[in-house]
Amino acid sequence: MRKNIVAGNWKMNTTVPEGVALAHAVEAAVFAAPELKCEVIVGVPFTHLTAVKNVISKVKLAAENCADHKSGAYTGEVSAAMVASTGAEYVILGHSERRGYYNETIEMLKEKVDLALSNGLKVIFCCGESLDERKAGTHFDVIKNEIEGSLFHLNAEEFAKIVIAYEPIWAIGTGETATAEQAQEIHAFIRGLLAGKYGTQVADDTTILYGGSCKPSNAAELFAKPDIDGGLIGGASLKAEDFMGIVTAF
Ligand code: PEP
Repeated sequence: MRKNIVAGNWKMNTTVPEGVALAHAVEAAVFAAPELKCEVIVGVPFTHLTAVKNVISKVKLAAENCADHKSGAYTGEVSAAMVASTGAEYVILGHSERRGYYNETIEMLKEKVDLALSNGLKVIFCCGESLDERKAGTHFDVIKNEIEGSLFHLNAEEFAKIVIAYEPIWAIGTGETATAEQAQEIHAFIRGLLAGKYGTQVADDTTILYGGSCKPSNAAELFAKPDIDGGLIGGASLKAEDFMGIVTAF
């Protein structure tokens, strides 16, 4: 049975003390919540990992990136081993902001995925199309290429450590959410793709998140769809109350 997950992606927001306070508030709310039907993750900047880890236990920790090299002379980079040594369980890879602003390629992401897994991290792997690609009707191909190119070299055992996040670029931070039907269509497509490669059991066991202007007011409708197993949340993860409004939408 696959897990439901709601994961925050704080991006480049909050100082360390602000981040610790936010994580503390989320942990307290999760602790006080009666019966949550999902795992809760906070994805935080590298600088925050250790301090945030100290104030959470029910809430899981994710980094927002890791390097595509193991170690060595890569000034400013942070390796998967370094991330894992903070106690983080997950790393978010392939976010469209990293693909777009930092030119992360399918090949680089393949390296990052391998390094993350070999260091014991689970991966939240983002994929999604731009508005132009959707208008041109190439969105299925874009998603297929991103998933196949960076993940399909994994064996089934390795793939069990992957969570997919479908994030249409046109819905990220724009206030424009994909409709629940649009999201479900892509999630079902992704699950079919996984079934073709790894079989129906692996496909059924894979958590597929939706991301893109998800908020307390639309989360329940999205999460009610059969192939939507939770969300990757940007803006709304920066306020504990909003984030918990999504967490409790299941
Ligand atoms: C994201 O960046 O992963 C995201 C989903 O952002 P937002 O929720 O702000 O659209």
